[in-house]
Amino acid sequence: TWTNVPAGPPDPILGLQADQDQRKINLGVGAYRDGDGKPYVLNSVKKAEEILRASNPDKEYLPITGLPEFTKNATKLAYGVDSAPFKANAIASTQSISGTGALRIGGAFLGRFYPHSKVIYLPVPSWGNHTPIFRDSGLEVRGYRYFDKKTVGLDFEGLKEDLQKAPERSIVLLHACAHNPTGVDPTRAQWKEISDIVKEKKLFPFFDMAYQGFASGLTDRDAFAVRLFVSEGHQIALAQSFAKNMGLYGERAGAFSLTSADTEEKSRVESQLKIVIRPMYSNPPLHGARIANTILSRPELYAEWEAEVKGMADRIISMRERLYNELTKTHKTPGEWGHIKSQIGMFSFTGLTAPQTKSLAERAHIYMTADGRISMAGLNGNNIDYFAESVSRSVKG
Ligand code: PMP
Repeated sequence: TWTNVPAGPPDPILGLQADQDQRKINLGVGAYRDGDGKPYVLNSVKKAEEILRASNPDKEYLPITGLPEFTKNATKLAYGVDSAPFKANAIASTQSISGTGALRIGGAFLGRFYPHSKVIYLPVPSWGNHTPIFRDSGLEVRGYRYFDKKTVGLDFEGLKEDLQKAPERSIVLLHACAHNPTGVDPTRAQWKEISDIVKEKKLFPFFDMAYQGFASGLTDRDAFAVRLFVSEGHQIALAQSFAKNMGLYGERAGAFSLTSADTEEKSRVESQLKIVIRPMYSNPPLHGARIANTILSRPELYAEWEAEVKGMADRIISMRERLYNELTKTHKTPGEWGHIKSQIGMFSFTGLTAPQTKSLAERAHIYMTADGRISMAGLNGNNIDYFAESVSRSVKG
């Protein structure tokens, strides 16, 4: 029956599982690791789980759109209590199977109901799953320039030109903060210019916010772009994930929301979100949403969580500093490495070429994606010297 089924492509981070060398470093995976290279369960999460256990909760089904207090608190975190649609009770929202599920629900909803276009523009490059998510949602995927290989920074002129050339009312996907895979974000002034172009061209902004808190600060800074767009009067779509900022990866806690004109429109939109979701998976998982909601709704836990997210972000920043110093000062590695320090969030686009990443895997047991992206969170005091020395050797050839 399945003789015509072709084998899918192999795992992109080849050889990783088989390699048992002591020096092995895995910088391919986008999950936070602590200073000892171990997965990290936040204290605030452990405390929330204790509170939940003590309340002896049932395991009933959630509604199709999930735990209502959770979605309310999730949107509050992103939009802020002072945002107009939050105050007006005009944000249509649903719990989702983490960020991926939020993007997929959003893609499916826009594919079905956005009346003006079926075209979505993604930054080039973008998270590898964006293209299949939106293609499988029935949208046509196109790209806008984002990353400049020469400067290892934002191609802002290219970005503006491409958005200006896009057909009016197209959908445009924006990474809210800590762009994956490049670690390059627009400045505040650049966000304002992007907002102006989006307005002028009547584009529909869809924000992917998978790293709130991982760039530089939970609300004021990492929510800046989302809040700016909303305050500028844009209607937006938003995908949120609590995988990274609460370390809830496998719990699949996320939310999708759309700002609406008023409460009546919001209710209509939510009724259709339910119709999109019901045949996909009926209703979302309980536990992660309960954990996230417990943290978001209790001031002492929220404060502890905020400090823990900052702790993760700060450890990553300290690894950036140290890697930069090792590469430039200790090993005098040829080339410009300032981007290691200036890039934002969990990832760094190192500028290493595909042959260099291949040789690092084969000769040094160091694994990253073939585009030269590393997860800074995979580096720690025990492996960073070896990593810098190996990179330097591979660059010197
Ligand atoms: N968007 C981006 C940009 C991401 O990097 C990720 C995770 N790698 C996601 C969305 C979705 O992650 P999750 O489904 O685990 O929340």
